[in-house]
Amino acid sequence: MSYNHKHIHTDHEQEAGLKEIQAQLAEIFAKFTHKIPLYLFTQPGSNDHFAQAAREVLKLISEITPKITLEEYDLDHELAQKWKVDRSPTILLDPENFEIRWLGAPLGEEGKILVQSLIMIGNRSSGASEQSLKVLQKIDSPRKIKIFVSVTCPYCPQQAVNTLMAAVEKPKRISLEIIDIQANIDQAEKYAAFSTPQTFANDILIAKGAQPEELFMASLEKMEQQSFFIPDISAEKIETDLVIIGGGPAGLTAGIYAARSGLEAVVLERGILGGQVALTPEVENYPGIPRIGGKTLVEILVTHALQYIRIFPGEEAVEIEKGDPFIVTTNRRRFLGKVILLATGANYKKLDIPGETELTGRGVSYCSTCDGPRFKGKKVIMVGGGNSAVTEALHLHNIGVDVTLVHRRDKLRAQEHLVKKLTSDLIPVLWNTQIKAIRGKEHVQEVELIHTQTGKSTMRSIDGVFISIGYLPEVGLAKQLGIELTGDGYIQHDAQHHTNISGIYSAGDVEGGYKQIVTAAAQGAEAAMAIFEDQMNPYWK
Ligand code: FAD
Ligand code: NAP
Repeated sequence: MSYNHKHIHTDHEQEAGLKEIQAQLAEIFAKFTHKIPLYLFTQPGSNDHFAQAAREVLKLISEITPKITLEEYDLDHELAQKWKVDRSPTILLDPENFEIRWLGAPLGEEGKILVQSLIMIGNRSSGASEQSLKVLQKIDSPRKIKIFVSVTCPYCPQQAVNTLMAAVEKPKRISLEIIDIQANIDQAEKYAAFSTPQTFANDILIAKGAQPEELFMASLEKMEQQSFFIPDISAEKIETDLVIIGGGPAGLTAGIYAARSGLEAVVLERGILGGQVALTPEVENYPGIPRIGGKTLVEILVTHALQYIRIFPGEEAVEIEKGDPFIVTTNRRRFLGKVILLATGANYKKLDIPGETELTGRGVSYCSTCDGPRFKGKKVIMVGGGNSAVTEALHLHNIGVDVTLVHRRDKLRAQEHLVKKLTSDLIPVLWNTQIKAIRGKEHVQEVELIHTQTGKSTMRSIDGVFISIGYLPEVGLAKQLGIELTGDGYIQHDAQHHTNISGIYSAGDVEGGYKQIVTAAAQGAEAAMAIFEDQMNPYWK
């Protein structure tokens, strides 16, 4: 038989427990290499309950060791002005050396955060991993972190420790406010931070919930919540079976298939992982996933691929030396591979009209997902008549941009269902119209349009010009290697994705064809399987 025995702690037991914790902390604090001055700022009549709790906790802590000192001041004291403290209670931790402040009282789960912060500051050591330090090194502009926590949140210490690591490692660039939501309801309301932990940097939400350490650092660096982390590898030379150039759906899928066949593969990506998919607002035709944001699909793809292969983001293959092995030189190192897969995709086409280059980034854009939100409530034109232009016009319309499509013919090339959406969303179209010039001093102000049939020229005031007129295959490396191209400029290949050079394969948009995510992925899979078969039974021997 079993029964619940509810143990009631006696005062004596509680006191013994507290003494034990104090003894443990005394041992840890005794090893501190640096003293920690703590400053508590309070204001009678303001949050008294939290102020008293903070006072008691800090008093207890400072009594453990002479290495931690405590001073308390009112909000009208000159030190409050010096350190710009205007809330009660606020705790500053060694403010001459760090910008770490606590708004509230470190009770419950928050007590764990306080102890961790003291250990980091007292030892001048964050304990951050080598990979985290590499990411932090890249941060070269200020980050003001705010993390919203609560007393009862078991996930908060993990994320708070991440933020502390960053603030301790880069005290000149990174400041930290740990904000207890109960003691600072107005702040929680302002940031809509009612679930904890939530982390903001420069007032941008960069993480909801607790993250693994390196993922937090990457989110802090990119100023956007990251869902995967790719370790930074410092080796100067990497030997592998297959070097895949291009981290779009073709390259990533090829990596998965190659590794599953037993080949060692690496993917090099010079720009954004996911290739064109990362620029796609919404994907509705990937089988099994009725609707998904392009970026989310990329996250799923990359997370999957990382289970099998090493990915090298930010690495551009600039030269490939033929031989056995092939030597691929990037901006960072050399890769020695038995075979090469070119999955370099395509790049957007330009209009080549006056004003286009000069005003790029100042109203002229090739990426509605990236730049669309800045034009909310403003007037823009979208140039093009294919699937991309229509998809992007629909996206801009959905996010509140006043968009007009400008097309050079009287019929769209885009798929029927996209055209129907364009009509039902009442997006205006200027038919038989070309842009002749884009004008503006600081930014785009007007465009000169010409009617292709009447030749009539008109001016139109506009805030932005989005251009989506197709893509050119990315064949720079292929040309350098002497790979044969088709009449349209794509890589000439056979059904097994062989190019005319033994050991060099191609896949995806760079081969031409239908240019879809699903077809690019399929070509990547086919190429990887052909590579595996050829390795077993070389076709060139
Ligand atoms: P890409 O996606 O172009 O990737 C190639 C990668 O190679 C790039 O990331 C590039 O940076 C990299 N690279 C190139 N050269 C080098 C080098 N020297 N070193 C290192 N890296 C290099 N398709 C659909 O099926 N459904 C859609 O809804 C859809 N919407 C789209 C919307 C837009 C706006 C666009 C532009 C395309 C859309 N597509 C859509 C098409 C689809 O995205 C492409 O067909 C697909 O991404 C092609 O995959 P890929 O891997 O061949 O090439
Ligand atoms: P696209 O299909 O080649 O269409 C390009 C459009 O731009 C055409 O309408 C073309 O006009 C126009 N254009 C070309 N050069 C121009 C110029 N100099 N001035 C003015 N207009 C010009 O290219 P895309 O729309 O970027 O699509 C690329 C590939 O990705 C396609 O294979 C497409 O199917 C795929 N994609 C698929 C989806 C989807 O499945 N939902 C979404 C986006 C893209 P004309 O019509 O007169 O030639």
